[in-house]
Amino acid sequence: MIVTSIFRIWLLLAPTVYSAPFLEPAVQAEYDAIVIGGGPAGLAATSGLARVRRNVLMIDSGEYRNDATRHAHDILGFDGVTPAWLRFAARKQISDYGTVDLVNGTVTEVQPQNNNTFFKVLAEYPGNKSVSFTTRKVVLATGLRDILPSTTGLAENWGKGIYWCPWCDGHEHADQELGILAHLDSAVTSVREILTLNKDIILFVNGTDTPANRNITEGKFPGWEKYLKLLNVKIENRTLSSITRLRDGATPFADPSLPSHPEHDLFQVNFTDNKNPILRNAFFVDFPSEQKSKVGQNAGVQLYGNKLAADSAGGLVTNIPGIFAIGDANSDNVTNIPHAYFSGKRTAVFLHVVQVERENSFAQIAAAGKRDVGEDELQQLWARMNEPGDITHAGDRFDAQY
Ligand SMILES: Cc1cc2nc3c(=O)[nH]c(=O)nc-3n(C[C@H](O)[C@H](O)[C@H](O)COP(=O)(O)OP(=O)(O)OC[C@H]3O[C@@H](n4cnc5c(N)ncnc54)[C@H](O)[C@@H]3O)c2cc1C
Repeated sequence: MIVTSIFRIWLLLAPTVYSAPFLEPAVQAEYDAIVIGGGPAGLAATSGLARVRRNVLMIDSGEYRNDATRHAHDILGFDGVTPAWLRFAARKQISDYGTVDLVNGTVTEVQPQNNNTFFKVLAEYPGNKSVSFTTRKVVLATGLRDILPSTTGLAENWGKGIYWCPWCDGHEHADQELGILAHLDSAVTSVREILTLNKDIILFVNGTDTPANRNITEGKFPGWEKYLKLLNVKIENRTLSSITRLRDGATPFADPSLPSHPEHDLFQVNFTDNKNPILRNAFFVDFPSEQKSKVGQNAGVQLYGNKLAADSAGGLVTNIPGIFAIGDANSDNVTNIPHAYFSGKRTAVFLHVVQVERENSFAQIAAAGKRDVGEDELQQLWARMNEPGDITHAGDRFDAQY
């Protein structure tokens, strides 16, 4: 009789007890993953994890590499929107998923724990509020910082007529008078990148046209001098003193449904000899860059060149198991938004399937080997029935007779 009652209650609870048996995760931590950085790479990783209901925290300090540019390009479906709109649209959609926290803050330290089985992440939230969390995995989406020369006018006009890649802003300045700002050897190779867009080109090599650099250039690009002559590309070797904006080519009232609009900027390049300034509509540049954040390196992540070394066969994991590197910061050596999306998604899939759930399954199978799971559930139910106040509580007599 009492046994029959147990089964009746058991059947009543069957949908919760049997359809989703609670199995302990392999590691107890507040988050499955903490994504550091909320540019396109971090957003893509967060989205990929949110879609499969991973508990994920994205912490972003908001210093986006392309913040200065007027419009972001070559992003399917979003070609020509502002970078801020792209992030806003992504955040809005991602925040609809129930297992995601998106916060503004700066991660100050990632501390590997217990042989990298989980991590402690320390961060500063706005208002000098220090916080810390535990997480099973860490995704570094911390980006790069461009190292701009100190030439007056360069940083001020960065991303607005002085641009970094042909796909980013080249189309907006097509057929205009273009300057290339770079060392001799890279300026020469930059010509090939931009030739389908511009023909009137001057290389501003800022004193780097020296015999030694000519040899280096010849090694990289045999016949480069003849090539420049054929194209009528000039080299200007004087040292730059400043770049002055004469006209702003922003197109705030242009049709936003169209991806590309010509931007008619005008700049004057001044030299230290104070003679013969040169006018140009736009500049295509080649400057070095560096890691925006040291949190990865401080946690033991190795660099490849100046990038966080990431194994593409291992979901872009670094040398520290459980820490991944995506986007511009990683060693794929591809720095654009489509790559940021791709790499974020790649890590999200790997982290979800090949890491967290695989670890869980191994731990759960091992635990199940020690005890029978069905037996365990029956015991849990029995414990509930003996808890005064629980809906299943059957009283002391029931307890005593079973
Ligand atoms: C001027 C310019 C224009 C560009 N235009 C285009 C374009 O039109 N199309 C295109 O495809 N690509 C463009 N790019 C390239 C593009 O900006 C990058 O490829 C892209 O931003 C990389 O995304 P990411 O998420 O890796 O890095 P980012 O966008 O730089 O984001 C990194 C984020 O991590 C945050 N962060 C860093 N450290 C921490 C920390 N410790 N704690 C918390 N947060 C942290 C940063 O504040 C930042 O918000 C452009 C680049 C430049 C320089």
